[in-house]
Amino acid sequence: MRVTIFGTGYVGLVHAAVLAETGNEVVCVDTNEHKINRLTNGDIPIYEPGLQPLVQAHSLSRKLIFTTDAAYGVEHAELIFIAVGTPSGEDGSADLSHVMAVGRSIATHMTSDKIVVVKSTVPVGTCDGVYATMREILVQRGLDELDVHMASNPEFLKEGSAILDSMKPDRIIIGTDNREAENKLRELYAPFNRNHEKIITMDMRSSELTKYAANCLLATKITFMNEVAGIADRLGADIESVRRGIGSDPRIGYHFIYAGMGYGGSCFPKDIRALIHTSIEHSYHAGILEAVESRNSAQKRVLFEKIKKHFGDRLHGRIFAVWGLAFKPNTDDMREAPASEIMTMLWQAGAKIQAFDPVAMPECKRLHAEHLASRDLLLSDSKEDALDGSDALIICTEWKAFLSPDFDLIKGTLKEKIIFDGRNIYDPVVVKRYGIEYVGIGRRSA
Ligand code: NAD
Repeated sequence: MRVTIFGTGYVGLVHAAVLAETGNEVVCVDTNEHKINRLTNGDIPIYEPGLQPLVQAHSLSRKLIFTTDAAYGVEHAELIFIAVGTPSGEDGSADLSHVMAVGRSIATHMTSDKIVVVKSTVPVGTCDGVYATMREILVQRGLDELDVHMASNPEFLKEGSAILDSMKPDRIIIGTDNREAENKLRELYAPFNRNHEKIITMDMRSSELTKYAANCLLATKITFMNEVAGIADRLGADIESVRRGIGSDPRIGYHFIYAGMGYGGSCFPKDIRALIHTSIEHSYHAGILEAVESRNSAQKRVLFEKIKKHFGDRLHGRIFAVWGLAFKPNTDDMREAPASEIMTMLWQAGAKIQAFDPVAMPECKRLHAEHLASRDLLLSDSKEDALDGSDALIICTEWKAFLSPDFDLIKGTLKEKIIFDGRNIYDPVVVKRYGIEYVGIGRRSA
């Protein structure tokens, strides 16, 4: 099948690579010329396990073509995906300017019927809005007879395991009342729907809301655990024991009940804000979502407060080793990463950072260039180098490479023998056995 995808970010590029792998001829359109040039030269701008070999192989076989030429992309395929970003606007609403721009661009260039599928996470009613805008443009162009078949097809991949998630999805949501669109998407997704039925069909608005409901529920689970961790901290209980105790109940399960530094990343924070905004627009009080959002903001400060409690007001001039910059392991994505937030609080208090992350250092360089220039931030070559001359160690991402460190070396290198574990990856008893003080989130440790 010939497919065009607008947007070559984490979602668009992975979707394109996986569709090329199942034999489709895919054109990827992006407005970012630099990104398209890199991709055309086989250079993958993001880190995602397994992505590079797929993109390189299918670029070579011309099953995957990268371009900034929207007209070419529209001409190439009947089936067109919109997978561009929907970041938070200033008021918390989802910024739909990129999605609408793609809709306008398709309508401006199309000369035959198109199936337009919105993969970006968008508020309820957006697909209707894209359709209405496209129809207006077609009328203006005197091409009223052309059909636009709309569908919503939200994405559920997880950064860090995106290829696997796309190859073996838990579910594929197709939101449309349009037969043409549904049949085409069923055909496209048939290779991923072989073992058992994974396709769930529904109307467009329910499909749009399903994506928000999923992300908001996951963010709520995390936030609930962070709240219980705060209670555990005050009562001398251990949140890790509590986690194992409640996770064993299949109605609760073990997923997304880890206490930590608050959720971050490119999806949960903006999606919670967008659904709150939508609710307000419809005079509906989404009390749980509002509580999750404000509790999560507070959670971002918890580890910093623990650091302040230990050092008092004497943070000025201190050096902190930070292990982990990405918002979670196996990705280089630092959007709303807890590491950035705690580093910013430490910089404001006059401290310096020596950081290491297995893959997110280029992204950190880009985001925090001024702190690199002022030498408030030093990016170390290894996690061990980051310890050199540091007062304390802060764990911000639970990368596998950090799970079994050389505690003797940590003790020998740090000026103050203390680990602030924002991800609860170490056992406080083990760490203490090495003569290192341990401060976690809701651990019986401090
Ligand atoms: P991203 O920011 O990584 O990539 C978006 C891309 O769209 C960029 O390369 C940008 O240059 C491009 N773009 C912007 N305007 C364009 C236009 N007019 N034409 C062509 N390209 C254009 O975003 P992402 O993380 O891939 O997310 C895309 C959407 O998918 C968002 O709505 C997001 O909420 C949703 N989503 C993301 C994830 C995730 O884990 N990242 C998971 C599920 C859903």
